[in-house]
Amino acid sequence: MKWGEAALILSGAIVGWYATRRARIDLGAPKKGPSSDYLAGLNYLVNEQPDRAVEAFLRAVAVEPDTVETQFALGALFRRRGEVDRAIRVHQNLVERPDLAPAFREQATYALAQDYLKSGLYDRAEKLLGDLSKAGAYRLPALKDLVLIYELEREWARAIEMHEELARSGKPDQAIALAHYRCELADAARRAKDFEAAKAQIKLARSGPRQFPRAALVRADVALDQGEAELALTLLRRVPVESPQLASEVLPRLVRALMLQGREAALPEVLAEFAGDGTEVADAIAHAAILAGSTDSPALLNVLRGYYTRQPAVAELVNALSPDRTPDDVAVRALALALRRQSQQVARYRCGDCGFASSAFFWQCPGCKSWDTLKPLGPGEQGGALAPPRA
Ligand SMILES: [Zn+2]
Repeated sequence: MKWGEAALILSGAIVGWYATRRARIDLGAPKKGPSSDYLAGLNYLVNEQPDRAVEAFLRAVAVEPDTVETQFALGALFRRRGEVDRAIRVHQNLVERPDLAPAFREQATYALAQDYLKSGLYDRAEKLLGDLSKAGAYRLPALKDLVLIYELEREWARAIEMHEELARSGKPDQAIALAHYRCELADAARRAKDFEAAKAQIKLARSGPRQFPRAALVRADVALDQGEAELALTLLRRVPVESPQLASEVLPRLVRALMLQGREAALPEVLAEFAGDGTEVADAIAHAAILAGSTDSPALLNVLRGYYTRQPAVAELVNALSPDRTPDDVAVRALALALRRQSQQVARYRCGDCGFASSAFFWQCPGCKSWDTLKPLGPGEQGGALAPPRA
């Protein structure tokens, strides 16, 4: 157990004890200190001995089964140790106690919801958190947990409602998350062929954060579905300029647009044209083109040459193979193929926040649930095993 976790349980246990004492004083019950086993449990927690802390708390409960604070400390410890079934039993017993003060019932209900969340019983957690989110001391944490559940269940409209509730309670607006929910809703509407609803959601997404490239991508999808290739190309043109890391997301849409116009063979030329907006964009386009295997045009081969010189891991290879440092077309193609094969064995993206690595792109990191944190890995950055995406 980490010190932070122990401190959290400890502070909860101490608050619990004071609250119990307060309640006893209010009821006119005789004042009474915590039992020696309870104090021993706290001591073990301070000394990071969670196993012995559990034993001491269990002894305290055996002697005094009514002590609420010990139950809370035990329940929290069980959950932290991954013994969620035991935590659920402890908190359920507390919730069902008829004599429990309302503040404790709320605390126990929230603790039980946390147990359900941890064990993946989202429907049960949702029900308890729904009640807690209406009023009381746990309103805000319950709303935040509900956001998490609705994101996991891809219930975007409900997630938006929770954010609106949080905003009404003075919490800062999560503009980026909200814009992503709108894009998810737009994409669902598009797939259902309700293009007007999709456009309405995209408009809302665009009204949020100042720059939000995903809205342009989803709008391009709608345009492509409606056969408007020219509009799609205009939208796609801007994306790598504003967000070079999304070049790989632009590429398949570009292919679709060119197919609609009957000129899919022009892809490398169009990519080379896109790459004209500075080295960062050019490198992102080159990287995406290599991964997609669309490199066959003189203009694009030149883009790749420039890319190779700017990637330390690749530049070294090029220098070793061609002494004049300008590889011919055959070498450029061969290197692109080798890089493509290599990228298929390793992670292509990594989350800048938590380090989650993946071969697929996600708008929301499956590891830490942050939005827009997955970035493509260039050659030489792709070391490390693939982390399987969580369900
Ligand atoms: Zn992450």
